[in-house]
Amino acid sequence: MTEPLLQVKDLKKYFPITGGVFSKKIGEVKAVDDLTFTVYKGETLGIVGESGCGKSTTGRMLLRLIEPTEGSIVFENQEITNLSKQELRKVRRDMQMVFQDPFASLNPRHTVEKILEEPLVVHGIGSKQERKKKVYEMLEVVGLGSYHAKRYPHQFSGGQRQRIGIARALMTRPKLIIADEPVSALDVSIQAQVLNLLEDLQKEFGLTYIFIAHDLGVVRHISDRVGVMYLGRMVELADSDVLYESPKHPYTKALLSAVPIPDPEYQQERQLLTGDLPSPANPPKGCAFHTRCSACMDICKTTRPTLQEVEKGHYVACHLYQ
Ligand code: SF4
Repeated sequence: MTEPLLQVKDLKKYFPITGGVFSKKIGEVKAVDDLTFTVYKGETLGIVGESGCGKSTTGRMLLRLIEPTEGSIVFENQEITNLSKQELRKVRRDMQMVFQDPFASLNPRHTVEKILEEPLVVHGIGSKQERKKKVYEMLEVVGLGSYHAKRYPHQFSGGQRQRIGIARALMTRPKLIIADEPVSALDVSIQAQVLNLLEDLQKEFGLTYIFIAHDLGVVRHISDRVGVMYLGRMVELADSDVLYESPKHPYTKALLSAVPIPDPEYQQERQLLTGDLPSPANPPKGCAFHTRCSACMDICKTTRPTLQEVEKGHYVACHLYQ
């Protein structure tokens, strides 16, 4: 593995729950609880889990669009949790985000040219003429034409709008892109085109990706390693092929057995995921998955398993392996 680009340690985000006449704090939602992982230069780390598992909150915290409650985020050897707004702006040039819904994230009153120019203006990059040139070049890079520059977001299809979202993220030539469900709002036929574009751009610009999604099929396609989150914690992390071919955590096994395999000859042992996701405001004691796990033991109800390396590069948080 190459050098680390981003190191996350013991990251937490607790949202307060308030109630009563004086809006007193009466509890908290543990959206992200003790998350630790590293992203290496040039790789794609997929993060998967059901909705409400904390994956999107994690993505936003890495850019400090949401402030962490506790923990450390080190980007290129610099701790970013304590940076001032001004210092943070410099770092954000190198870390950009692609959102799920490009329509909601693109200003409907601005032309594509203005949308793409904006990050350059914010970071004080280039003269007006140079910025314009960069916008036209970037449109070509993401498979759009220069004639698209004067159009507005509503004049594009969903796939084209996501290309604009990707182009905007690339304008400052970042090192890390955090893509939060970037293809889940698109038709299946368009998803592959956008994923292929992301892969091509990764090679062309030497990008590192954190790819957040609930769809395990999509994540496998693009990721070198995959981390599985459950109720705000990472429960398994491994190389993509290892995770998909020999998952260890019962939650990962259940998620994978729900993914349809287009081969009528293929037989797999199905492990159904029963019960609803417990509330992060009141997570189960011990292993947070114990209320839905068919392999649950007594220790699981009282003691929280920690994420441990059980084989080289394969981390699991489960008492079956500890
Ligand atoms: Fe299941 Fe226990 Fe492992 Fe949790 S720790 S996943 S309850 S076996």
